[in-house]
Amino acid sequence: MKTQFFRIGSAFREEELETAAELIRQGGLVAFPTETVYGLGADAENAHAARKIYAAKGRPSDNPLIVHICDVSQVFEIADNVPEDAERLWTAFWPGPLTIVLKKNGRIPIETTGGLDTVAIRLPENPVAKALIRRSGKMIAAPSANLSGKPSPTSAAHVIEDMDGRVDGIIISEDCRVGLESTIVDLSEERPIVLRPGDIGMSALRRVLPDAVLDTQLKGGHPKAPGMKYRHYAPRAELYVTVGERAVQQEKVFDAMHRLLEAGKKGAILCVNESVSIYRRKRKDLLVLGLGDKGDSREIARNLFGALRRLDEEGIDLCVSESFSEGESGDAVMNRLLKAAGGKTI
Ligand code: AMP
Ligand code: MG
Repeated sequence: MKTQFFRIGSAFREEELETAAELIRQGGLVAFPTETVYGLGADAENAHAARKIYAAKGRPSDNPLIVHICDVSQVFEIADNVPEDAERLWTAFWPGPLTIVLKKNGRIPIETTGGLDTVAIRLPENPVAKALIRRSGKMIAAPSANLSGKPSPTSAAHVIEDMDGRVDGIIISEDCRVGLESTIVDLSEERPIVLRPGDIGMSALRRVLPDAVLDTQLKGGHPKAPGMKYRHYAPRAELYVTVGERAVQQEKVFDAMHRLLEAGKKGAILCVNESVSIYRRKRKDLLVLGLGDKGDSREIARNLFGALRRLDEEGIDLCVSESFSEGESGDAVMNRLLKAAGGKTI
């Protein structure tokens, strides 16, 4: 398949947007930027188009898609029994990086919702995303625009790497402001359950919904978001995450590198900016990537997926990462990092 490219940033030609919107209307696939990560979009009401998303990503078809809307009133077109908590959430956080799971009516096909009787809905803040949804006249179903198992794409270059030749169109735009997938809150049950942490953290959510609880703290920690059960974000490199005080972690990083690096293998370290020079001074043969200043969890979140992709590009065999649990996005960063590491900590 020949992929069309569209350059749509703060300045763009209307015809480009219209051509991309027309591809969506015709049941095609268009990758587009959002503030979280780039999405792989299709008409949410078109079952055939939804199936093409799974094929393009190589994604299991029981892993549901998020329906992106451009106006709050669209929630009532696709969801049943919308609770007051939903309105509280969207008043506080939309447009923005928050997805709300609600009971669905019959309008969105099961292909889009992975066979579930609930639907995940988000009103994004990114102006290009909103313009595409509005111009197409469709609600747009989209997962992240990466090949299944690869880190979510946070730049147009990542999308092109994974999706060129597999989709009808790719919108080339700015890097994603947040860089991690949306916070998902399930309101289809008695109590609000956070299925996936994100840029909107637990403390911000609890200001709006005081009884919101993290999924992993329920039912012995079995995640309910179908996507959470798959191996995700995994680089080819063996990845370990150190835990403990920062100074202790730095010792552990060196210790692990010495023990694990066999002759001829390539090693990398992911760390806070404050640690970079410490590692570089001790060893010249390692790739050392600073993800952001220690307190700046938003910057670290923005850089994480790009750094994981970089490990593969550089042919890294072994990577040891510091922890990044400080700050409002700390939970979300550690959730993705530990998944990438398959839970391996030092
Ligand atoms: P992605 O943006 O690629 O992570 O894909 C969308 C994510 O939303 C997946 O992890 C899904 O598991 C989650 N999701 C979508 N719809 C639902 C739903 N109805 N219930 C629970 N999780 C959902
Ligand atoms: Mg994804």
